[in-house]
Amino acid sequence: MKRTKIIDLFRPELIGQEVCVMGWVRTRRGNKHVQFVALNDGSTVKNVQIVFDMSQFTDEQLKPITTGSSIKVDGVLVESMGKGQSVEIQARELEVFGTADPEAYPLQKKGHTLEFLREKAHLRPRTNTFGAILRVRSALAFAIHKFFQEKGFFYLNTPLITASDCEGAGAMFQVTTLNLNNLPKTEEGQVDYSLDFFGKPTALTVSGQLEGELGATALGAIYTFGPTFRAENSNTPRHLSEFWMIEPEMAFYDITDNMDLAEEFIKYCISYALEHSLDDIQFLAEHYDPELVERLRFVLDNEFVRLSYSEGVKILEESGHKFEFPVYWGADLQSEHERYLVEEHFKRPVILTDYPKEIKAFYMKLNDDGKTVRAMDVLFPKIGEIIGGSEREENYDKLLGRIEELDIPMKDMWWYLDTRRFGTVPHAGFGLGFERLVLFVTGMTNIRDVIPFPRTPNNAEF
Ligand code: ATP
Ligand code: MG
Ligand code: MG
Ligand code: MG
Repeated sequence: MKRTKIIDLFRPELIGQEVCVMGWVRTRRGNKHVQFVALNDGSTVKNVQIVFDMSQFTDEQLKPITTGSSIKVDGVLVESMGKGQSVEIQARELEVFGTADPEAYPLQKKGHTLEFLREKAHLRPRTNTFGAILRVRSALAFAIHKFFQEKGFFYLNTPLITASDCEGAGAMFQVTTLNLNNLPKTEEGQVDYSLDFFGKPTALTVSGQLEGELGATALGAIYTFGPTFRAENSNTPRHLSEFWMIEPEMAFYDITDNMDLAEEFIKYCISYALEHSLDDIQFLAEHYDPELVERLRFVLDNEFVRLSYSEGVKILEESGHKFEFPVYWGADLQSEHERYLVEEHFKRPVILTDYPKEIKAFYMKLNDDGKTVRAMDVLFPKIGEIIGGSEREENYDKLLGRIEELDIPMKDMWWYLDTRRFGTVPHAGFGLGFERLVLFVTGMTNIRDVIPFPRTPNNAEF
């Protein structure tokens, strides 16, 4: 018999029909007359209840059905009398694919802590919580492509191995040629990590933006969506060493067009998730964050506040609030400052613009004051910075000036400067950290919990 996914069982026309389901057992309970098994197959956060009439099955047959085991059941779908479920399956036939020794299977309890599950990252997708998070993550990824594709943006793949440090922060991972099964050794017998990429020093990309600009100044509007790497040894709940970034880049856009796009984009993604992943979001709200749905709808219904960095700093200075890090004009804002503006002062998302050039990257367009650049950071409740972007400096001489001022090795940048040498155009773009968006939409508070395999300074095992 053909398998039906659990998510497709809740259709009225299936009532009374024979169905076949396959999945992993969450729990089993009951007595000698009847046994109830909660089964999940990953297609939805909902489990389906399988009812075993013990006059038709033996104890021996059901013995292998423990938490974590995998089974196939044929039976009749009926309306359920039980609380919290609309349908259940009366089992006729049972096949066990794989057992899960209760002594060894780590996911026994109903409510493991997120910290415990981080230690079991290889199995945690089998929990309701991580199933929900990963499905929301997948829906958001689809929404991102859909948004840009429908707007006529082209998806551009930028290289992961590069020789330039886009953000100028020096936080890159070097690429070496290594055979993990046969590590090269120095004469002293130590592992030799000094090998490079076929004779050239290269690193894993921190951002696809510079290459994205090459795409935008040819195709008009592009977006990237790929992994980025940052060797920042910051153990915060918002930073990963490997994270996914979405970077749209648009020719003929100024900073206002850029802000409009960022706001429309992020609202589209949230609204798509609410429409297509509501069960999962509600499950997460119920278990972790009761105000989640309300917060998501609030962001959709309200315009983001737009103000300059200088105005933002003034508000922070005059707030009388005691921050851990000092605020003054010229300081890079920390998430406590960003969250204060969003959560305490304006009580909605904020777009801050026109930052001091010293705290922003070399490629941002200089304002007429000579001190600030046309940068924009989108700040969100619970998160702080979720998007960083800018209008780009399109003037060849000014850009060259910045490159020299910052002592960026010219030999690495000739290809980038060519976009300004030949047919330069005004353009702008931004980067959204995918995991920060997933954090916001799932209501989770630690970025390690919204990516299947978190890479942090103390976790690169599997
Ligand atoms: P932050 O101030 O939080 O360190 P950033 O200003 O260094 O972020 P950008 O270089 O502006 O980050 O990158 C664009 C976006 O990528 C950020 O707005 C954020 O959403 C995301 N991002 C940056 N660094 C990380 C990281 N280490 N882990 C996860 N997401 C990140
Ligand atoms: Mg940073
Ligand atoms: Mg920042
Ligand atoms: Mg930034």
